[in-house]
Amino acid sequence: MEVGLDEGQELLISGAREFARNELLERDRRWDETDDTVIEVLDQLAEMGFLNICIPQECEGLGCRYETYLSILHEISYASPSAAVTLSVHNMVGNILAAWAEEPRRSEWLQRWGAADSLAAFAVSEANAGSDPASCTTRGVKVDGGWRISGEKMWITNGLHGSWFLTMVRTAPKSEGKVFTAMLVRGDSPGLERQPIRGKMGIRGSETAVIAFDDVFCPDDHVVGPEGKALQVFLTGLDGGRLGIAAQATGIAEACLDEMVSYARERRQFSQEIGRFQAIQHKIADSAVELAASKELIVRAARRVDSGRTDTRASSMAKLFASESANRIADRAVQVHGGFGYVKEYRVEQLYRDARVTTIYEGTSEIQRMVIARSILGY
Ligand SMILES: Cc1cc2nc3c(=O)[nH]c(=O)nc-3n(C[C@H](O)[C@H](O)[C@H](O)COP(=O)(O)OP(=O)(O)OC[C@H]3O[C@@H](n4cnc5c(N)ncnc54)[C@H](O)[C@@H]3O)c2cc1C
Repeated sequence: MEVGLDEGQELLISGAREFARNELLERDRRWDETDDTVIEVLDQLAEMGFLNICIPQECEGLGCRYETYLSILHEISYASPSAAVTLSVHNMVGNILAAWAEEPRRSEWLQRWGAADSLAAFAVSEANAGSDPASCTTRGVKVDGGWRISGEKMWITNGLHGSWFLTMVRTAPKSEGKVFTAMLVRGDSPGLERQPIRGKMGIRGSETAVIAFDDVFCPDDHVVGPEGKALQVFLTGLDGGRLGIAAQATGIAEACLDEMVSYARERRQFSQEIGRFQAIQHKIADSAVELAASKELIVRAARRVDSGRTDTRASSMAKLFASESANRIADRAVQVHGGFGYVKEYRVEQLYRDARVTTIYEGTSEIQRMVIARSILGY
């Protein structure tokens, strides 16, 4: 048992491991090659409780500690990085609502959060607003009883089947500064349109979409957090969200390490297992050390979240190190497989592609370094 986790939490993690390896792994291989996605197992994910892992028990969630949640995501990602990002985004939106939404809407939304038809998306990025969300141009105009939203969001995970879009909307002209408001927009709102983004390098089993808002109405009681404070709402959400991506990265890294080890034991060259060669052993050792260090950084940051002292620097450190390590480990896994690592029959080829996005979304590595350095320098 992991230090600090009780038996109930350990059971949830081992249940997730068993489910992921039995129900997701083979499907994830198929999703990589076809147009099918994780949506085909959404009901099962809901039944397992994975859609409301951190939602408080009084709102019918599992009420798990963040540390446990991240271990569950790690196990899911080991088998399906696509399912892991789907869950990470949905749970991040749930956590933001738990922290910022007002009653009675808060309870109403959270009590249904575990159902497949509550799938949520986080809609901040636009074609010209990625690392710099404050350049977002999707705007809201105040009308009687709510807001009318127009604009276009890009790269939205869960965008095709999402029932809810937590959306960053400019609610005052540029001349008044960075005035954005977070709004929870219903997926079936008239004027909201979804277009799939095809041709992704990896995590092809997850949905990524462009979402167009054409005069979409959002009622006043669907504003999340204070009006004008979306940057604060989203940045606190991302402290946890980035740890979800870190856990996705360690899941990929662990799968790569396991593939590397079993191939090193079975492949023979020069009349011996390639695992006998020091060069191969070093790749395995370096990968095991980086994976262990990534997990420690994640646990350290998760415990801060659990103690109510969310620490942006700790979350960024974990995300930066885990995602860059996962890419190095995936690269070594392909190298250990030689030519066989370069073809689809071997899972490392897919894992190498799946790992790549982890240093890009929810803040690129460059942005994580900026966040870490600024917090040290006090800027
Ligand atoms: C598969 C996928 C799923 C995604 N899901 C979502 C989602 O659900 N919701 C959502 O809102 N977004 C989502 N995103 C968007 C993602 O968060 C952005 O792609 C990411 O933040 C980078 O923005 P960008 O692509 O516009 O790159 P840019 O911001 O244009 O960056 C280009 C390059 O410039 C660098 N750069 C930019 N600014 C600086 C700086 N100040 N200092 C140093 N270097 C800098 C970047 O690090 C990068 O290397 C997703 C993206 C992908 C690929």
